Amino acid sequence: MITQAVTGNKWYETKKLGDGISLIRESHIKPFYRCNIWHVRGRDRDMLIDSGMGVVSLRDNVRLVCERPLVAVASHAHFDHIGGHHEFAERAVHAAEAEILAYPSWRNTVAETWVSDDMFVIPPSADYKAADYEVRPAPATRLLHEGDVIDLGDRHFEIIHLPGHSPGSIALWEEATAILFSGDVVYDGELLDNAYHSNVEHYIASMERLRDIPARTVHAGHFTSFGRDRLLELIDDYVAGRRAPGCPSSQR
Ligand SMILES: [Zn+2]
Repeated sequence: MITQAVTGNKWYETKKLGDGISLIRESHIKPFYRCNIWHVRGRDRDMLIDSGMGVVSLRDNVRLVCERPLVAVASHAHFDHIGGHHEFAERAVHAAEAEILAYPSWRNTVAETWVSDDMFVIPPSADYKAADYEVRPAPATRLLHEGDVIDLGDRHFEIIHLPGHSPGSIALWEEATAILFSGDVVYDGELLDNAYHSNVEHYIASMERLRDIPARTVHAGHFTSFGRDRLLELIDDYVAGRRAPGCPSSQR
């Protein structure tokens, strides 16, 4: 029974974490479904990594995202990460998922698998129906590839292409601070490799690559941040699980 609706700035909570990094979360989406929206302050401009479901305006409610010129990066193009991208003039995504950002649908953003009224603790408005949910088109103004750099003036984030969860999944690596933004490639929860465009072999290869990146802090697409030890455990668990006897990928 819906007894309360939440709109406006109560929809989002913002937490400053140090290193010029803030975490913005959609407070009333259940933890399993909501993504982490990361804001990084730079000298010349700011960066947003992912933008949430887009059911309540980010720009109208979170001052932090309007203070400076900002590039909105998509870690990948699943609905829970790109719903607010249309609100920003500068948008970047890996080339492999540019089509989804430009022409989002329930199917290609995986909304059809996950979106339901059940995902909200409190819905965005009293008469809100998840069936009416849509991701607005937000064609990229910059296509990202392996090795590209997002330059904020005093901070530089290298794009690491890590397909598997989805074909255009990326992580953003800041060598100077050993901070890695990992999107949905690795987070501290059950990793998903069964979407229509997931690829387990690619995922395993991406995890092997991640091992060699000397990250000390990982800010992920979902759940809590973690350090290097946990990163290696999560990588090992995933790879071991997919190579276990009886798992088709182990026979290749
Ligand atoms: Zn995803």
